[in-house]
Amino acid sequence: MVPFENTWPYERIMKDFYVDHCPFCDANHVLLPLKQREIGEIKSGKKKHLVFPCCYSKLQIIDIDDDYILADSKVRNYL
Ligand SMILES: [Zn+2]
Repeated sequence: MVPFENTWPYERIMKDFYVDHCPFCDANHVLLPLKQREIGEIKSGKKKHLVFPCCYSKLQIIDIDDDYILADSKVRNYL
């Protein structure tokens, strides 16, 4: 069970993945460097090192569902 502080909502628009705002710098509507193929890989257990393009903050994604990224560290501490 992943703690709530480790989750962050994302949206899919066509083939692109966005967050409404960045958990680290609060930039709006950030396009994530994430591919559809990688979503499947993460779901099957592969970790994904994500770098936010807005502020180069890093996140290790350990799981993902249709609405939320699950990270291995807190992402809700920063606001
Ligand atoms: Zn940012």
